[in-house]
Amino acid sequence: MKLRTAYLDHNATTLVRPAALAAMTEALAAVGNPSSVHRFGRLARRRLDEAREQVAALVGAAAEAVLFTSGGTEANALALRGTGRERVLVSAIEHDSVRRAMASVETIPVDGQGRVDPAVVAAMLEADDRPALVSVMLANNETGVIQPVAEIARIARRYGALVHCDAVQAAGKVPVDMAALGVDLLTLSAHKLGGPQGVGALVAAESVTDLMPLLTGGGQEGRKRAGTENVAGIAGFGAAAAEAAAGLAGVAALRDELEAEALAIAPGAEVHGAGADRLPNTCCLSLPGLSAEVQVMALDLAGVAVSAGAACSSGKVAASHVLTAMGVAAERTGSAIRVSLGWNTTRDDVAQFVEAWGALARRAATRDVAASAA
Ligand code: PLP
Repeated sequence: MKLRTAYLDHNATTLVRPAALAAMTEALAAVGNPSSVHRFGRLARRRLDEAREQVAALVGAAAEAVLFTSGGTEANALALRGTGRERVLVSAIEHDSVRRAMASVETIPVDGQGRVDPAVVAAMLEADDRPALVSVMLANNETGVIQPVAEIARIARRYGALVHCDAVQAAGKVPVDMAALGVDLLTLSAHKLGGPQGVGALVAAESVTDLMPLLTGGGQEGRKRAGTENVAGIAGFGAAAAEAAAGLAGVAALRDELEAEALAIAPGAEVHGAGADRLPNTCCLSLPGLSAEVQVMALDLAGVAVSAGAACSSGKVAASHVLTAMGVAAERTGSAIRVSLGWNTTRDDVAQFVEAWGALARRAATRDVAASAA
């Protein structure tokens, strides 16, 4: 019998939407460099223009503000390095593509729920008046915790600092309005909202007048990002963005059910960031005594795909910098998994997770009882 699978790792990458696949297939089948002046080039250019409008509309920006990149990582690097500010302040829970974009950054701490306190940003800006860039993500990829970005941007403006926001995980899940946020730069990634991998955008408001390109050569993307555009990928990004505007609020009930059932099975489990405003699709769950690696592998055998809250590099599993910054104890950081739902997640997927995870948790509890009796 074929194993039923439940993909619950949508924050890592989500399924390509049929409309995005159709747009990509059509664009791939056509010839034409968008920089060429002939009809084939003009057709490719039209695909770019349409996608630029669609991506801009997702975040309430002007089409001219959208610079297409090879993904969220490149957009983050362009924002941090390209603005050339003397001070770069980034929150402790940023994705590594922000944390490691520069040789040196200043870290903004977070509270126990994984939130940045705007007053702390104010104090850091007050302490040093060199030109600064503040980078705070809209929603965290591990916990889903949403940051008070609009308030941070208001404060930063008072100090003349530019504000960048990595909205990779928020876009397509909750409404994102760049003007309401008041940020100067915003990062997006196609594959987190139903588009293809390897495409993203940096949305740069008019306030950003001096962005230096990372890649030089041709004059593409307003001379801010040289290289022939990935027309098919961008067309897929645009089509996905148009559909993703509906958001993921519908999966909140499923996520809440999943959490309630997990906590009922294992009272020692904890949902990190549950006391904060969160994305509707993300659950970061720890259960001491049950390592994240064991959970991910056992769940995979049961057909359920989730990810570990810890990053594994060169054979060593490092504690999640996000949970560590939140002050979570090591016994929990080592056992944290991320379950993330998507636009095609069903109640059966959640039930499959609960059944498989519940069996693991019960087995771990029996082992603990046996060990304490021995
Ligand atoms: N920012 C956040 C918050 C992410 O979660 C990710 C990907 O996981 C990225 C940036 C990087 O985006 P990309 O995979 O498009 O380079």
